[in-house]
Amino acid sequence: MKRCTRCGRAKPLAAFYRDRASPTGHHSACKLCHRRDVAARRRRRLAEDPATFRAQRHAAQGRYSKTPKGFAAHRAAHLRWLASAKGLAAAARRKRRLVADRRRRRCTRQVERPGNGRPALRGADL
Ligand SMILES: [Zn+2]
Repeated sequence: MKRCTRCGRAKPLAAFYRDRASPTGHHSACKLCHRRDVAARRRRRLAEDPATFRAQRHAAQGRYSKTPKGFAAHRAAHLRWLASAKGLAAAARRKRRLVADRRRRRCTRQVERPGNGRPALRGADL
């Protein structure tokens, strides 16, 4: 048992996060108090300076996605998104764009080489 310095209640050690930097090996505040403190600090930082908060959060997400665990989480989220309605719509848009690009390239080639035996395209001389 250990007494939380925030709420003052005695709780089993499992109710405290491990902290190798602390002489006791555990946080001084219990998990519930710690979570509440972290959430309060996040709310305060967001309210005080939203631009810096978002920039730092974005940078942290970038670092996390470079770790194996973060990369796997990002990959899993991406696959979930691909299977979602938004992802399927985006895939359909990509497909349409690809087909349109291919069609446009084929036309351009015929316009650039008029002597290839085929009749000149309508509007090619515009
Ligand atoms: Zn507590």
